[in-house]
Amino acid sequence: MDELQCPACGETESLIGREKGELIEITCETCDQRWSRDPNALPICERCDSDDMEGAVKAIVEKSRGSQLSIVATQVVYLCRSCDESILASYRIGRSPLMPDQLPTQ
Ligand SMILES: [Zn+2]
Ligand SMILES: [Zn+2]
Repeated sequence: MDELQCPACGETESLIGREKGELIEITCETCDQRWSRDPNALPICERCDSDDMEGAVKAIVEKSRGSQLSIVATQVVYLCRSCDESILASYRIGRSPLMPDQLPTQ
C-alpha cells in the first residue's frame, strides 16, 4: 500500500478517511480537498502498467462569456510517476490544477 497524499496540497498527515460503500472518501484537513479511493481498484498506468501513480487535481473548465475560460470544478486524476514525470514535476512546484488536454471550443 502506497502512502496516501493529498493530490491538491501534498499533505500526508492530516488526512481523514471515511468508508463510503465500496469506496473510501478522504478529506484533507489542510486544504479541504475531498476525493475518494477504491481500495480494490488502485490506479494503474494504462501505458506501462505501473501502479506507481500520484494524484493530481485537474481542472474542469468552461468557456464563459467572451473567451475567458473559468474553472468550474476540479477532479482528482492519477498520473504515472514515470510516463508523466515531467507533468508531475511541474505540478509539484505550484500545485495549481492541471488544465484539461482539450479545452472546450465554442
Ligand atoms: Zn490538501
Ligand atoms: Zn506509466
